Amino acid sequence: MKPAIIFDLGKVLVDFDYSVAARKVALRSTKQHPDLQHFLSSSSILVRYESGLLTRQQFFDEMRQATGFTGSLEEFSADFADIFVPMEQMVDLHGELRRRGFQTYIFSNTNDLAIEHVRHNFPFFKHFDGYIFSYEVGAMKPQPEIYAAMEQMCGRREAELVYIDDRLENIEAGRARGWQTILQETPGKTRAALEKFLS
Ligand SMILES: [Mg+2]
Repeated sequence: MKPAIIFDLGKVLVDFDYSVAARKVALRSTKQHPDLQHFLSSSSILVRYESGLLTRQQFFDEMRQATGFTGSLEEFSADFADIFVPMEQMVDLHGELRRRGFQTYIFSNTNDLAIEHVRHNFPFFKHFDGYIFSYEVGAMKPQPEIYAAMEQMCGRREAELVYIDDRLENIEAGRARGWQTILQETPGKTRAALEKFLS
């Protein structure tokens, strides 16, 4: 049986740049936060949101407190989520795997604003057999709970899974469960590493 192929989303299928969101949010903010991007990465707010501990409204309320954002939730959502660009080589590679009959899954630390945006704007995103999102599971990679959720969803374990991610700590947690793993450095290298599964 062909292995199932598990894709991380950010920096594997879509590139993203939070500085774009930071600039847009700052344009409608009173506090002129010196570095909103730094705030997002240094405070716990995004981790709590992506762990499912904050609803969209709660995340917005906390962001509004931190930035003095003056716009609506809808305006914030548009500013915050429009940071993604599909990585065409990887989207093509995914399409090829589908044509060859592989089952494919998305496995992502993410939030509902990002997923709503990606689902709405990028047609390739519909063509997976299943999706595991941290904010729905209530755990983030590399926590074991989210890997167990992936195994349960696809009904496969250990070497029946091939997992592609750009973060070493996530890959190592997969490898510890016996998954076959590919650390994504460039789309070309990922493609080459998948070659042995394609024949
Ligand atoms: Mg990633």
